[in-house]
Amino acid sequence: MTKRAHNFCAGPCTLPVEVLEEVQQEFVNYHETGMSLIEMSHRAREYDEVHREAMQLAIEVFEVPDDFSVLFIQGGATLQFAMVPMNLLAGGGKAGYVNSGSWAQGAMDDGRHYGNIYTAWDGAENRYTRMPAGDEIAVENVTRYLHITSNETIGGIRFFEWPSVDVPIVADMSSDYMSRRIPWERFDLVYGGVQKNLGPAGMAMVFVRKSVLQEIKPDVARYLRYDVHLDKESLFNTPPVFTIYMVGKVLKWMKEQGGIGAMERRAEKKAAILYDTIDNSGGYYNCPVDEASRSHMNIVFRLPSENREKSFLQETGAENLLNLKGHRSVGGCRASIYNAMPESSVRALAGFMVDFQQRNG
Ligand SMILES: *Cc1c(COP(=O)(O)O)cnc(C)c1O
Repeated sequence: MTKRAHNFCAGPCTLPVEVLEEVQQEFVNYHETGMSLIEMSHRAREYDEVHREAMQLAIEVFEVPDDFSVLFIQGGATLQFAMVPMNLLAGGGKAGYVNSGSWAQGAMDDGRHYGNIYTAWDGAENRYTRMPAGDEIAVENVTRYLHITSNETIGGIRFFEWPSVDVPIVADMSSDYMSRRIPWERFDLVYGGVQKNLGPAGMAMVFVRKSVLQEIKPDVARYLRYDVHLDKESLFNTPPVFTIYMVGKVLKWMKEQGGIGAMERRAEKKAAILYDTIDNSGGYYNCPVDEASRSHMNIVFRLPSENREKSFLQETGAENLLNLKGHRSVGGCRASIYNAMPESSVRALAGFMVDFQQRNG
């Protein structure tokens, strides 16, 4: 069997091995065409099928209602930081942002160039260790949308309840994409880079309420307009065909696993294994995050000293438990356990943690 690491990378991330093997099988000679998919025209019938299937599966797996469309747009989640206000604030107006940490700040910094952006809740005073409860978010009058980051990848916190506000929500879901059901009626737009939960890097997946795009024709370059991508069914220019093909395979895998409900239960279970290990360690491992806001995707934890953390990271590396170093801006350790991460890998890490404590407690 091929060597497989327990890869806890925060992104790009581990993908289902079944999917990787299937792609390898059909890579060189795609469906007896005598060429690979990435060598074909993106207008070819074979690619068209791949494209439409990926779109259809995205809608199906995420249980997206009919009044939304899915778009595939290059530039990752980062370009969406700009495209959202460029499009939704094209007619003027303002938007509230929940400042929950690094990624939310990225969205705000870029958004400011294209609209009137204000902070509707600020996590700075608690050092971004929790998300707000619904009634803590202050939405001003005539706000076009409230922007949230459903899961802060670096801080390891997630929205535990969706804000119930009077304005539509826009959410960056990059790091917990399709890991739980969402109440679509509260949202106008949802976006995320696909490389955390859904496939390799190369694009953002955007779900947008169709009625929103009928009102706006922003005066910006065509690639930056949602209505253009919608009109051309995400084939306005050459799309990232390999990424879309891989995402389609991962979505099919998710569907076979039982869909979004199964992903949610798996995520909950895997996260609980690690949080239980932390909570049962008598304080040896410490999760600096408010309990209610604990992420199900990125589990951050500290050891009693930086020296211990260093040897922990060295030893995990030797055990094939990889990429557990926390983000350079916060230090410590972080285990990213996205949809494709098998429970067995999470158990391997939990087992190692117990063993390490016994030897170094
Ligand atoms: C990784 C990440 C991003 C950046 O995604 P790119 O696709 O690399 O631009 C944005 N927001 C969140 C929450 C992320 O985790």
